[in-house]
Order: sequence, then C-alpha cells, then structure tokens
Amino acid sequence: MTNRLFVFSVLLGLTIGTASAQDAKAVLQSASTAMGTATLKSVQYSGAGWNAAVGQSFGPDADWPRFEVTSYTRTIDYDARSSREELTRRQGSYPGRGGGGTPLQGEQRQTSIVSGNYAWNLQGNNTNPAPDAAEVRQLEIWLTPHGFLKAALAGNATAVSFAVAGPSQPGMTQGGRRMTVVSFTSGKYRVNGTINDQNLVELVQTRIANPVLGDMLYETRFSEYRDFGGVKFPTVLHTHQADPRLNPGHNAMEIRVTSVQPNVSVAALTVPDAVRQATVTPLRVESQKLANGLWLVGGGTHNSVAVEFRDYVAVVEAPLNEERSVAVIGEVRKLVPGKTIRYLVNTHHHFDHLGGVRTYAAEGATIITHRGNREFYEQVVFYPAPRTLAPDRLATFFPLFSPQRDVDMETVNQKYVLSDGVRTMDVYPVTGLAHNSTMLMAYLPTEKILVNADLYSPPARGAQPPAAPTPSMVALYQNIQRLKLDVAQHVPIHGQVGPMDEFLRIVGKPSN
Ligand SMILES: [Zn+2]
Ligand SMILES: [Zn+2]
Repeated sequence: MTNRLFVFSVLLGLTIGTASAQDAKAVLQSASTAMGTATLKSVQYSGAGWNAAVGQSFGPDADWPRFEVTSYTRTIDYDARSSREELTRRQGSYPGRGGGGTPLQGEQRQTSIVSGNYAWNLQGNNTNPAPDAAEVRQLEIWLTPHGFLKAALAGNATAVSFAVAGPSQPGMTQGGRRMTVVSFTSGKYRVNGTINDQNLVELVQTRIANPVLGDMLYETRFSEYRDFGGVKFPTVLHTHQADPRLNPGHNAMEIRVTSVQPNVSVAALTVPDAVRQATVTPLRVESQKLANGLWLVGGGTHNSVAVEFRDYVAVVEAPLNEERSVAVIGEVRKLVPGKTIRYLVNTHHHFDHLGGVRTYAAEGATIITHRGNREFYEQVVFYPAPRTLAPDRLATFFPLFSPQRDVDMETVNQKYVLSDGVRTMDVYPVTGLAHNSTMLMAYLPTEKILVNADLYSPPARGAQPPAAPTPSMVALYQNIQRLKLDVAQHVPIHGQVGPMDEFLRIVGKPSN
C-alpha cells in the first residue's frame, strides 16, 4: 500500500478485508437468495429512457450525444445464453449536436440479438448478421444483475469486502455500508460486481477493447430495486462507457424499468441460416487515382487520401482501427514505394475517424489535428493506458512511449500548409458545425480538390440527390465561401468522389 492510499484509507475509515473463494460463494448465494436468482430462467423487462452514441461527442470534452428511448424491451434466456434487445428512439429534446446519427430524423427502431456465439440485428424485415458483436453481446448477459450472479456462481469467483465510514464513493459505497466486490473471469474479460449490505447487486463493471481508449471501462449501476413476483429487479439501469477521469462524457444509457416478467416463455431464438453462415467481412482496400501522386484509398466504410510530396507522403484520415490502418499503410507503400508517411491529417475526434491514429504515430508520422483536440490526444488517446485486451503496435513495440516526448503533433487553429514548392495541401478548421466542434478539412488548390469527413458525401451514381441540404452541407458551403476556396471536386471520407456543381445544386446555390 502506498503512503497516499494509506492516508486516504485512514481518513475515510476504510477497511479492506480480503476474502477467500468460499466467502465469494457465500456472498453470491446470499445475493442469489435475496434476489430470487436461482429460480429465474428467463426475464423480460421493459421501460424507457435514453441512450447515447459512444465515441461521437460534439467536442472532445463533452458527454456522448443522447437520444430519447421511447420504448425499450430486453428478453434474456440465461441457459440458452440468448438476449434480444429492442428499442425505439428519437432525438426528443436532446440537443442535436455530435455524431452517430445526430440529429435523428423521425423514429428509429433497433433490434439486436445474441444467441450463443451468433449475433444479428433486425432492420425492418431484414436480418443483418453481426458476427463482430457476438463476443461482447454474450458478455453483456453476464453484466445484468441476475446474469452476473449466475456467471459468478458458475465460475471461479473471488471476493474483497469494503466498509466505508467516510463520504460516499460514487458507484462503490455509501457512508458506513459494507460492500463486497466479487470478481470472476469470462473468457478474456474480468467482471467485478458490487454487492451491498442488502444482498443486492449495485454495480457490475468490466473493460472491453476500444481502439481509441484501450481497455475501456464498461459498467452499469443498478438502483431502486423492486419486487416483481418474488424476483428483485432494479428499476434504474445506468450505463457508463469510458472513464470519467479521461473524458467527462461517459454516460451511455439509462433505462427506467416499468415492468419485469420473470420466467417468461422465451420462444427459442433460432439462429437464422444467414446468420449461421455469416463470416466477418474481410478487410478490403481499393485505391483510385485522383491526380498524379494523389489517391483515394477506399474499399470499406471509410476512405483515406494519400498525397505524395517530393520527399514524403501525407495521408488524410486514419479511420476505424489498427487493422484498417495497417492495410491502408501497406497500400500507400505500394502506391509510393520508398517514401515514408510523414504526416497524418486527422479530420476530427469521432472514434470511427480516430481509431487508427495510434498506428500512424507508431510509424513515426506527425499527427495534424485541430488545436482543440490537443489535450484529449495527449492525455487520453496517446496516453499509455492499459491495452491488455487488444494490444496495438504503439503499446506493444513502444511500451515506454510518452505522449509529450514522442508524439509529433501539429495543431491547427487557422490554417496549416504542407508544401514542397510543387504540391500544396492546406488544412483548415471547419466552423459552425453541429456535428463536431473541432473539425478539419483538407484542400489541394492546384487540383481544386476538397477532402471532408461526415459533412458531404456526393450521391452515388444514378441515385436521387437529397431534396434538401443537411445543416452540415450548408456549413461546408459557408466555409468554402469564407475561405474563398476554388473547389472542382469533393473527395469524401465516406462514399465516392463527386463534382462541385452537383454540390452547389444540392445546397441550392448557383454555380459560377
Ligand atoms: Zn463524425
Ligand atoms: Zn464518419
């Protein structure tokens, strides 16, 4: 015990008792009896509340953007290891700022299912296999109060008990009550559950892999328990994803439960054939030459743009994760043999646009981002936080990596220019957006090409252009005017390249 922790413990009157596996079993059994877990084979609970788009905050220091959940129903069959979660959501009165579909137009229905090792989503009458999601959805069954007790009783659980006489510790203890934290391991995940002096599960915590945050905290607090036909169930479920010390925004969902049906007959969640046969979509990289020394590197949901300069290459955007970035870097090396990637331009901090930035830092690239992101990138994204679940190159090959000493970061406030005298790329902040407060775009004046993320994707060939421009399109237009950019072609991070006159028609402005 360090001195500081010791002093802290004395001040709070904290006593910590380590207990054996037998103690864990006894605590779990008491909780199981009090909560009615042993006879609970299945459960269906319903309510309403809100959920949020994790990794899609408006600014790097903001909470995840929320949506109103008007109806929510979850059905779990513990023995079958199956769960079906259905919700309807709308923007409601939550501010329409941030990404992840914000602001929602009308109502959106989401159904996500896991059964054993298979996961899928329903969208209208369509079944969409989601093999990538199966592992975490399976884990999420054991993160519910009764699921936790069942899994901990079946596994090799250990317990530590606490009593705190001092001020409340959020999520852990409240003045003077004795709490026991019981832990077990499920696959590669360690799950901790806090059981209070009423033998109720108050909090379940684990960590899941996240390309931006590493081992990301994932917890749900359970409160206001009520009795439903002999089964105790919390009526408030409040979920956090990410760590409030790193990011004040971390609230992922809150559901207020209005009805609980223990042991509902669960029509077996038969796995559709399409789901059984589905495999994880293989990673695809396809490049398209836009001009001499300039390529769109696509083939997936997010593009990157490779720009060759006399002595080096600059890449715009490192989306999704390390796997994608390693493949894109491989393609860039083929396109431009013998030159190193010296710069990586990151358009904004949304996790699907940021997940590969650490891979480029491990390559020694200088990261160009908005000035407003500096603190978040230094203190969170490049911070050597634990990455045991999915170690990346930066964590594995450079364990002594220091964000302040080892990351070359160029932050943009007004304009940042990369030039070798022949080719020039200007990087500008995009102002006045509801999507993101710290957004950059890249402009190549010679080629008259503008690269944007999430603001404008030209309509697919033959597709009907949108009837009205989105607020992001209007804001992009205003930024083009403000900066007097002469744009001929739009190169988006999502979708395909398109001409400026089409954009002008959509935003309802005359082409000159
Ligand atoms: Zn975004
Ligand atoms: Zn995007």
